[in-house]
This record gives sequence, structure tokens and C-alpha cells, in this order.
Amino acid sequence: MTDPDSRDPAFWHPRTAMVRGGLARSPNMETAEALYLSSGFVYPDADAARRAFDGTDTRYVYSRFRNPTNATFEQRLAMLEGARFCRATASGMAAVTAALLCQVKAGDRVVAARELFVSCHWVLTELLPRFGVSVDLVPGADVDAWAAALTSPAACVFLESPSNPALEIVDIATVCDLAHRTGARVVVDNAFATPVLQKPLDLGADVVIHSATKFIDGQGRCLGGAILSNDESFDEECLLPFLRNTGPALSPFNAWVMAKGLETLDLRVRAHCDTALTLARALDGRPGVRAVRYPGLEGHPGHALAMRQMNGAGGAIVALDLEGGQPAAFRFLDRLRLIDISNNLGDAKSLACHPATTTHQRLDAAEQTAQGITPGLVRLSVGLEDARDLLADVEAALDGP
Ligand SMILES: *Cc1c(COP(=O)(O)O)cnc(C)c1O
Repeated sequence: MTDPDSRDPAFWHPRTAMVRGGLARSPNMETAEALYLSSGFVYPDADAARRAFDGTDTRYVYSRFRNPTNATFEQRLAMLEGARFCRATASGMAAVTAALLCQVKAGDRVVAARELFVSCHWVLTELLPRFGVSVDLVPGADVDAWAAALTSPAACVFLESPSNPALEIVDIATVCDLAHRTGARVVVDNAFATPVLQKPLDLGADVVIHSATKFIDGQGRCLGGAILSNDESFDEECLLPFLRNTGPALSPFNAWVMAKGLETLDLRVRAHCDTALTLARALDGRPGVRAVRYPGLEGHPGHALAMRQMNGAGGAIVALDLEGGQPAAFRFLDRLRLIDISNNLGDAKSLACHPATTTHQRLDAAEQTAQGITPGLVRLSVGLEDARDLLADVEAALDGP
């Protein structure tokens, strides 16, 4: 028997929402989502324009505010994250910056996880303090450190889990609980897990941000980002005025690519994770590899938490700490023949990089060590190729002539 509710979009399962969520066909009845590559919109008469601006009528006025293709992407992603609304941005960093700047003011305090993507680290430790916002960083996996930091009032908490590139797992539900007791809003960067594996809003987070550039596009084509939340007053009072007046809007073309990317997100993420686990298991304990850091391995300190929080999977990123430090890491990267050297991630193509000298080069040695970025660390973004070919490439690069 069919469940009558399952025909109502509000009750669609995620796989259905990914393919059909937010679809609003034009009178031409196209099969695929239409691409509205238009910066502005026209009005039948002057009074219609006036009504659009005073809020009497809801219609598209300008793509810095809203655009129909962006709306499809936003609604589709909102359904997957279980969020009341989603605002698309030009990149993941535009999303991080807007989500933070729109809600803090001089004198506020922000508490953030220490293990962060390096541009998130810059926004928190360089940009916010310029405007009189103080920022305290805590080791993300240390619940006691969060509890101590959140005994004094804070306006906002920021974290990513798993973290880029050290793959620390933060206990999102516990941190949200601690943060809410001091009145802080929690912003979670969900780029590594994607809504397929992790739904921070269900764990208590107030705001979720994405770099859609990564797994949501999934094929390395476009930059994009998103901010999602259920908090209508955050949207109306903080986020919307900030986005509409400062303009980090996503191009409708990129929104179209992202909306199409979402159609296959579930299938792709599961395939990425299966292959990542196969590689992590095969490389764990191998000569030349000092440690394999992967939340899906039993030996990872955050394994049990990751399995609970991330739908039983470890994600698509594997970090290898190689014996022999930077020379060994460079030798390994230079010997790869299938996997490309690239600082991007979340692509169908497997990509490898050396965070200490590329993405996280800006951090000094002490800060790199604190974040777990050792000289021998190689970050592997596991793609959609056959696991056997990837393993052969990695093993040949490790053993090399
Ligand atoms: C890549 C990344 C970002 C930034 O996203 P862009 O789309 O490159 O601006 C933010 N957070 C994390 C965890 C990332 O991996």
C-alpha cells in the first residue's frame, strides 16, 4: 500500500527531494530546471514596481535579491538539510563571512573550533577582531574545553566537523547545548559531511553553511555557497539585509549547476565514502604510512561519535601522515599518476594536496602543529574512480622507485 503522505513534497524522502525539490516549471514545461540568466526583471506597469518594492507583492526584482534558478537550488538544499530557508552565496567563504558578520557587533565574543579551513581561520582571527569582536579558539574535539570557554557569554559559536584537513570530529549536539546556555547562536560548516551524512540543524545548530563548490557541485565546475537555518528572525533581522545590501549573490548559472549536482548527491557521497573506507583500511598500518586519519576507521579518536553523527559513514576525505615529513609527502605527490595534485576537494576526480605548504601555508609551525597539520600530512579527496585503480596509484607512489 502507498503511504498517502509520501506524495506530498513535505514528506518526500531525501532521494526524491534531491531530484525534484524546488522544481518550478515555466509555462514552456521544460523537463530540466530552467536557467534564468537574468540580472533584473520587468514590471507590467509602474505601480507593480512600487508594490514589489514596498512588499505588497512578492515578485522577482533583481538577482542580488532573488532569482528563480537560485530559488530552485535554495529550496532543494533546504529540503535536504531540513531547513526552513536557504540563501545561496557566491562561494563557501562568502557564506561563512556573511553568516558571521551579519550577526556580530563590536564588543561581542565568538568561540570557534581551532581546527578550521584556513580562510575560516582568517575571517575569525584577522577580520572579526578588526571590528572589535573577540574570538577564542578551542580544540574542537575537547568537550571540556568547549564547556570552559562557554562559561562566559558569547554571541556566536563557529565550527566545522569533520575539520579540514585534520578530520577532527566535534560533538555538535553537546556543543550546541553548551552554547545555547550562554545564549550563543551556533554556526556549523557542513561542507565535508554534506546533508547526506550529517544534519547539524537536527543536532541543535542554529545555522548551517556550505561550500557548494565541493560535493554539491561534485564535479569541480563552479564556486558556490549556502546559508541555511530555521530561525526566521535571524533571516529577517540579520541575514537578508546583509546579503541584499552587500551582494555576495550566487550567479544563476552556478545555481543551476548546483541544483543539478544535488540530483546525484546521495549516490555520489555514498560511493565516495565506500571508496574512501576501502583505501583507508588498505593503507592503515602500511609501511611508510605513520598514520591514516579517517573518521570511518575504528582507530580514529572520534570514530564512535562520527558514526552516530554522520549516518554511519566516515566521509570522502582521508588524511595520510607519511613517514619522512615533507620530503616524503612531496615524493609521494610527485609519483602519483592517476590522482591529481590539487587543493580543491569533493570532485569526481581524486585529488591530493600537502596542506602544510598549500592550503594551510599561512599558519605558523606552532599553529599547524596545534591543528594536527604535520609536515608529512597529505589530504586525499577520494573521487569516484574505481577503488582498485586508486589503491594501485597510492601504493605505487608510496613504494616508488
Ligand atoms: C572549501 C571550504 C570552504 C570555502 O569554500 P569556497 O567555496 O572555496 O569559498 C569553507 N569551509 C570548508 C570546510 C571548506 O572545505
